[in-house]
Formats: sequence, structure tokens, C-alpha cells
Amino acid sequence: MEQRAVPTQYAAGHGDPKKDAGSGTTCTGEVNGERTAATASSSPPPHPRTASSFSSSSSSAVTEGWREERTRSVEDNEMSRPGLTAAYRTILSGLGEDPQRQGLLKTPLRAATAMQFFTKGYQEKIIDVLNDAIFDEDHDEMVIVKDIDMFSMCEHHLVPIFGRVHIGYLPNKRVLGLSKLARIVEIYSRRLQVQERLTKQIAVAITEALKPAGVGVVIEATHMCMVMRGVQKMNSKTVTSTMLGVFREDAKTRDEFLTLIRS
Ligand SMILES: [Zn+2]
Repeated sequence: MEQRAVPTQYAAGHGDPKKDAGSGTTCTGEVNGERTAATASSSPPPHPRTASSFSSSSSSAVTEGWREERTRSVEDNEMSRPGLTAAYRTILSGLGEDPQRQGLLKTPLRAATAMQFFTKGYQEKIIDVLNDAIFDEDHDEMVIVKDIDMFSMCEHHLVPIFGRVHIGYLPNKRVLGLSKLARIVEIYSRRLQVQERLTKQIAVAITEALKPAGVGVVIEATHMCMVMRGVQKMNSKTVTSTMLGVFREDAKTRDEFLTLIRS
């Protein structure tokens, strides 16, 4: 049924920005009211559009999220693994396979363990990463970390999303240890995701932690659910961006960021 929506979304890749910006999910074409900008394209990716506004109510919802407790512990993994394993055995049978076939005997357990690893972001929370990593610093030039590898799982199809994340922020007397930006990406991406939410969560976490003058996050990603099904475009990439503070308000700052991540 959702097949119907997919071509519409991607046929509109270079279409009207205002129309695209309303679309909140990447692989289904459904609209969920999120307002982060998204574009889909064949390579090379187009100039990412800047995010549209970001109301205080929606950002506070995400803000609560970044402080929240972990939803899963390592002990939970042990407890839920037999159930997950049984579920994968059911999947194999449902696919017409014989779970007792020699090559598949250990597959349900392997798949369960792998899926727990792919979603290990649920075992961590952002606040732990930030502890001891925020420094007072009189630095007011843009900080950019680009080409951070990202591996996530599409929450609609449970197949991989992978790509690169570019982060920039303009400090306001506080900076974050550079490796921590990649850790934030890791924690949010190792969960079931849609690309738009991932982009926004990263930007909001940095905003909450550092209270910077502005933050920009751009993600370029390939969705296996698009590549292997749906429109089956091998080289299509989805580009999302969230711009907050001066990155949203000041075109010069935003352009500097976008130029630097493309250089
Ligand atoms: Zn998907």
C-alpha cells in the first residue's frame, strides 16, 4: 500500500522546496508534520535546503528525549535474546525456509544478536557522553566536523540507512570535545530512525548541551529500502538538514557552513 507514495516523493526530488519541506518521512512519503527539510536526489546531492522553523514545543519534546533514561540495558539484551531468536526462527519459516537446515541453525541467534548491536543506541544516553567533555573556551569561530560515518536502521522497513553526517556549530563560550560529536551521532543513529528525526535530534542535543550561537547538521544517506525496493534507484541519496540559531537566521553563516562541508 505504501508503495504508492514512494515514487511521488522521489519524483519530486528537485521540486518545490516548500512542498518537500512538509514531508516528514523519507522512505514512505507519509507526512508526519515534522518540519526538517529533506531532499532526495541522484548524485551529486543538491544544495541542501535549510530547515524550516523549529517551534519551541517540538524542540522541547526532543529536549526531554535527550535527557531520558536508557530504554534498554545490557541485561535486557540477555533477557530478550531468546525471544528475539524465536521470532527470527518464525521469520525464516514464514519466508519458506527450513530453520533446521544446517546453514540456518544458528542464524536466528546471530540475527538477534546483530539486531541488538544495530540498535545499541538505546543502551546509551547523550548526557553520559557529554559529562566531562564540555569546556569553557573563548573560541567564537565556527567548529565543523564533517564526514562522520553513520549507520542506522529505517524504522519503517528495518533495513539499513547509511551515510555521512556533517556538523557545524558556532560556540558561545563553550565547546565540546570533538570526538563527542561523533558519539552523539552514534547514539542517535543506532536506533530505529527516520533521517529527518535523526538530523534534528543531533542538532537539538548540541544546542541543549552547549547553548551555542547556532548549529547546523546535514546528513546525506542511502536508504536500503529505497535502493532494494520501491523506486530501486542505486545512487539516490537523501539529504536532510537542520539549522538552528544563527545558522538559520544568517545566510552568511549558513553558507560558510555549507561551503566548508562541501570543500
Ligand atoms: Zn524505509
